[in-house]
Amino acid sequence: MQESAISSVRSFDMKKSASKLKKQSMPPSRDDLRFKVFLASVALHSTLGTCDRLRTACGIVNNKRLRGIGYNGSVSGLPHCDEEGHLMADNHCIRTRHGEVNAITNTDRKDIRDGQAIVIATPCLDCAKDLAEEGIRRIDYVGRYENSLGKQHLAELAKQKGIELVNHEVDWADFFQELFDLLTQKGGMLKNAGYRLKVTKESLPDNYSL
Ligand SMILES: [Zn+2]
Ligand SMILES: [Zn+2]
Repeated sequence: MQESAISSVRSFDMKKSASKLKKQSMPPSRDDLRFKVFLASVALHSTLGTCDRLRTACGIVNNKRLRGIGYNGSVSGLPHCDEEGHLMADNHCIRTRHGEVNAITNTDRKDIRDGQAIVIATPCLDCAKDLAEEGIRRIDYVGRYENSLGKQHLAELAKQKGIELVNHEVDWADFFQELFDLLTQKGGMLKNAGYRLKVTKESLPDNYSL
């Protein structure tokens, strides 16, 4: 038996707490695995984000395929936050194009319509509006970002547009361990490597900051 590394709050009520982790005894179904692999791809892309207040990313999924990904970064050719510092207005950094906007730019419009967005942390209202305008039917956002501009209006926008809005809480150590294990199992690319990749959790000192 293992616990699922993901618990979801499928709701329009942003105040609902995460539901208890469901027990999962079988390997992930293909649909479940597909979502996890896409989420892992988006999570890894977030490391390319250039605003070091929050490096984030968004993937667009349609018809079981990851159609495009974007991360937050400056307009091409302009300096990035992690090089030149942030461009602040009202406690928000406004230097970057957000991951969702870049994902839209990077994806064929026909592949966005009726699709699903996977977003690291709470999308801001402007990005949610852009996704809505392009015809996204579902937004899965993983983790939360309390400083996300206009987040208190997200649920209403989703309801008005008929968009399914789902928040996921992820235990990332369990999440990546499950995927690493698959790499070493039958047919996996590390099946003959002779070692296992092991995620370990280490507590950081209280004064730790990025
Ligand atoms: Zn910034
Ligand atoms: Zn945004």
